[in-house]
Amino acid sequence: MVHTKAPGKINVFLKVGRLEPDGYHDVAIAYQAVSLYEEVRAVEADDFSVSVTGTVELSRVPTDASNIAIKAAQLLAHHTGYRGGVRLAIEKHVPVTGGMGGGSADAAATLIACDALWGTALPRDEMLGLAAQLGADVPFALTGGTAIGTGRGDQLSPALAKGTFQWVLALADFGLSTPGVYSELDRHRDRHAQDIFPADVAPSVDADVLQALRAGDPHMLAETLYNDLQAPALHLEPSLAATLELGEENGALAGIVSGSGPTVAFLAADPDSALELQLALESARLTVVRATGPVHGARIVSD
Ligand code: ATP
Repeated sequence: MVHTKAPGKINVFLKVGRLEPDGYHDVAIAYQAVSLYEEVRAVEADDFSVSVTGTVELSRVPTDASNIAIKAAQLLAHHTGYRGGVRLAIEKHVPVTGGMGGGSADAAATLIACDALWGTALPRDEMLGLAAQLGADVPFALTGGTAIGTGRGDQLSPALAKGTFQWVLALADFGLSTPGVYSELDRHRDRHAQDIFPADVAPSVDADVLQALRAGDPHMLAETLYNDLQAPALHLEPSLAATLELGEENGALAGIVSGSGPTVAFLAADPDSALELQLALESARLTVVRATGPVHGARIVSD
């Protein structure tokens, strides 16, 4: 049996380029891996199967071949010519369809679990190549830490980071579909084409974000949190605006919709104010988890 874990992530900066003819957008993302981990246990088997447990709402997670962990295992087997299968057990702690890359973390944890279980010893660059085929956020779940993603988000370069940031996450009891939020952004840009600047062809991460991450300064980072998907997510789910307001009234330095939402991530100045904020949000009946970042990427756990 091989046991691995991989982190969820917060996009502290996300700029979306214009809609390309193939229906995709280029993006510029500053990713931070956070201390909510997905765990995967892999056992040799003749075919491919998956079971899912965890501390988050699991009803939207498939347990058939459409589960991204099965796709990851099958891709690795195909790529290496491995003829057997695997029985996977996923333990989820990252909210599902929460914009925190839980599925991507499952895929990354599965790739390294199967590679170790099967003894396929895939070189790192090939592993990153397979990860990118599985999804734009999967390479980052492998590398973890702090990184800048461009292209579809999968062209990664590491970013310098210091210190530990304190996050308080308000989870929603509904999901938002990533493609749905992008379509809402496109509709908004079409409607307002007269009044807003056209979106960049090749967006980039603002220099002050990189500076704040390098300095490890939450006050600086709070000023630079940015997400082009926030407005469309709020348009689709107006209740998120009240969540953002509540956090900011209760001591958050800043709040941001994480990725395509609906998780709202609040940055706190220190562990004490993170705890206070958590209690305030919980007394408003929100489901809250705390996390710190950056943390390492997918790795094997020695039991
Ligand atoms: P991202 O931030 O990378 O866009 P997300 O955090 O919003 O992703 P996930 O929970 O990673 O969303 O994935 C959600 C979708 O993927 C759901 O529609 C779910 O049915 C499907 N899915 C497939 N495999 C998994 C898995 N192992 N865990 C969670 N969802 C999965």
